[in-house]
Amino acid sequence: MLVPRTSGALVPRASGALVPRASGALVPLKFGALTQSDSHGNLRCVFRRSPCMLTTIFQAAYNSCAPGRHCTAGGCAGQMKVLITGGAGFLGSALANRLLAEGNHVRVLDDLSAGERQRLDPRVAFSGGDIRDVPKLWTLLRGVDCVYHLAARVSVPESILYPVDYNAVNVGGTVSLLTATRDAQVKRLVFASSGAVYGEQEQQPVREDAILHPATPYAVSKTASEQYVLAIGELWGIETVILRIFNAYGPGQPLPPSHAPVVPRFLNQVVSGGSIVLLGDGSQTRDFVYIDDVVEALVRAGQARGINSSILNIGSGIEVSITDLANTIMQVTGNRVDCLYRGEGEAGVSRLVADLTLSREKLGYQPKTTLTEGLRLTIMRDPRFSAT
Ligand code: NAD
Repeated sequence: MLVPRTSGALVPRASGALVPRASGALVPLKFGALTQSDSHGNLRCVFRRSPCMLTTIFQAAYNSCAPGRHCTAGGCAGQMKVLITGGAGFLGSALANRLLAEGNHVRVLDDLSAGERQRLDPRVAFSGGDIRDVPKLWTLLRGVDCVYHLAARVSVPESILYPVDYNAVNVGGTVSLLTATRDAQVKRLVFASSGAVYGEQEQQPVREDAILHPATPYAVSKTASEQYVLAIGELWGIETVILRIFNAYGPGQPLPPSHAPVVPRFLNQVVSGGSIVLLGDGSQTRDFVYIDDVVEALVRAGQARGINSSILNIGSGIEVSITDLANTIMQVTGNRVDCLYRGEGEAGVSRLVADLTLSREKLGYQPKTTLTEGLRLTIMRDPRFSAT
């Protein structure tokens, strides 16, 4: 919580915070209220929530207006100050480097549990730490126009083994970030959710208004986080945008020894001349979206106007079976290997493909990279697959 240091300073107080009155009595403040300290250091409430006024006051209080930055009422265009949580990860680092290359000031918070600092352009301001560290977040959010929230534990099978951890980091981390975002009066928060929230759905391609059936702790953690994002955003006048990202792939995607994502796992198995191991019977379908298309969507979500509280699918819009993925990888690499089928236990939902109508309409999002082209680019740009 921010506290006044000088007489007359305006400070935000958390919802229900107790502040001293001139009489010495403590009174709870309603959320959104601002307080002003008098010459005795006492606080008084000066006005209730008014997002425009709050923004003006806090911009002045934080002296955050960077030269050349052109913030608009809905979204930010031009040079921006952004914080990316999980910014040393697969998607976060690509986003950070792209935003930096476009002239923005980029900060990253990552605990490096899965991320790598070397992925980032050295001009990115990196800070190591946990997403639940609220005081650290206050510091990092100072003067920020838009925060991208990507920090999370991301393995579905691992979440089944460690649901407590997944809840603590993914849900607890989101709530911590939201409260710090509120305190720092950051205008917009973009949340990286997942197509996993849909679970098994009869209607495909799946639309954002489908009834969710999250079936794993990872999917539940993303569903709960979405609800927190919408609720706290609405309560405190933070513009929020939720992107439900489907199966992203591309150069640099982590390849852990167990539970690796399917695209780098198959690529690794094919280029090393081994066998491809398919879970289930290979008929289950997914929507594979190339990293550059996801990053484009994230950039647009931070800048577009009139999209407050939107939930948008980000995929390729193309339904591909796991068997077809294996065949396409063999075709692109020119290596033919055996396919082994291993039980049905970990195959996941039977079908999943994104309906992109809404993201097209709200973001002008149009995925540009076909699966074949994306796989070629991945092999070309990722030494793990091109060096063999
Ligand atoms: P990633 O694992 O590469 O990135 C996540 C980052 O968060 C890592 O760098 C990790 O070190 C960091 N992190 C984890 N716990 C943290 C903590 N407690 N404090 C601070 N940092 C922490 O995964 P990714 O594929 O880049 O995914 C990024 C985001 O996008 C995640 O929220 C993920 O759920 C979401 N998403 C990804 C995909 C995909 O296909 N890659 C699909 C849907 C949603």
